[in-house]
Amino acid sequence: MSQPAPLTPQTAAASAAEAGPDWNALRADFPILHQQVHNRPLLYLDNAATTQKPRAVIQALQRYYERDNANVHRGIHELSNRATAAFESARARAARFLNARSPEEIVFTRGTTEGINLVAATWGAQNVKAGDIILLTEMEHHSNLVPWQLLAARTGARLRHLPVTGDAGLLDLSHLDEWLGSGVKLLALTHISNSLGTINPVAEICARARKAGVTTLVDAAQSAGHRPVDVQEIGCDFLALSGHKMCGPTGIGVLYGRQELLETLPPYQGGGEMILSVEYHTSTWKHAPHRFEAGTPDISGAVGLAAAMDYLDAIGRTHIARHDQELGAYAYARLAEFKEGIRLFGPRIGRAGLVSFLLRGVHAHDVVTVADQWGVALRGGHHCTQPLMRKLGVESTARASFYFYNTPAEIDRLVEVLREIQKFFGL
Ligand code: PLP
Repeated sequence: MSQPAPLTPQTAAASAAEAGPDWNALRADFPILHQQVHNRPLLYLDNAATTQKPRAVIQALQRYYERDNANVHRGIHELSNRATAAFESARARAARFLNARSPEEIVFTRGTTEGINLVAATWGAQNVKAGDIILLTEMEHHSNLVPWQLLAARTGARLRHLPVTGDAGLLDLSHLDEWLGSGVKLLALTHISNSLGTINPVAEICARARKAGVTTLVDAAQSAGHRPVDVQEIGCDFLALSGHKMCGPTGIGVLYGRQELLETLPPYQGGGEMILSVEYHTSTWKHAPHRFEAGTPDISGAVGLAAAMDYLDAIGRTHIARHDQELGAYAYARLAEFKEGIRLFGPRIGRAGLVSFLLRGVHAHDVVTVADQWGVALRGGHHCTQPLMRKLGVESTARASFYFYNTPAEIDRLVEVLREIQKFFGL
């Protein structure tokens, strides 16, 4: 009798695409998951901070450094040509991943934070003046608050924030059209809240902004690796993502910008790579996107990110989104069993795969510290959303955030560990 083919990372991902994903089998693709921490099996639930990397991504980085490494765009030798081809084909891959109209709409950045800063510095310098309003929301990550605060300080613009409806964590959109019509230049908001798990209706919001002539930026840090993200369907002008939150390496991200807009913007940073010609006193710039990529870029990062995009699409982002929401709903339901012993944040239904909570009588940091002793990696703190925490009347929360390699059985283990933590604190 013939033996079944051995499960390899490649066959696991390929079989997922054909027969619907076998989430347990996909865990074999992630070497880091199979280890003991404090003598217990690792349970990694800090995916909103960063995701783990499949072998396919690790191997793409290794292959690049072992075979192709050289600097891009400048050389005419074989390795430089290969590195340039790999870098530019990663740009084309990112364009397909986001359904951008062309690779020229893809700027490589260090991550979401740099993407937003780039827009604030370039588009902001050109379009924002004293008295203009930048519209944000109360649930934004610091990286979608502070760049606009810096811009407001430079220009005299004002900031407004769409309200969040308390612990239920939804955006209150009842005054959106009225606000959009009163001096708003740009609306920048997150697709998925990293603190609440809220999935915002970004396509509907961007359509309303477009109708009011307002430019839009979507922070896709928590969504791009968790669901299909299509910039044409969303209808945004800019969208920023981080590779490390979607199976890719740290230090690489993408800023999507509508081509007509990108072409009008001044450079972000000056240096090599972004110029057409340089005199001692003046210079001229390349077209977008190269105009925004001064200096040697993160070439291997782009190669790794393209491999991550291939990997996610081989599984299927629609499958990932469904699994993500199932894990989020299951975790919320299991944690709700603690009744008065827990405070849960964010929507009860339709949430992303993360849950923020407070065990009554235990500080979030203590929950995370003791959970670590059980091999469970959680996060405790303000999650870079200090103003939201203040609005909710808390300093911090504990957060369990999932990815497709997490399972309902792991959520059961989390619940057991939280029961142990209650016992430990005499509750
Ligand atoms: N926006 C959101 C919603 C996030 O969750 C994060 C990171 O946690 C960021 C932006 C910033 O991402 P990065 O640190 O990769 O730039």
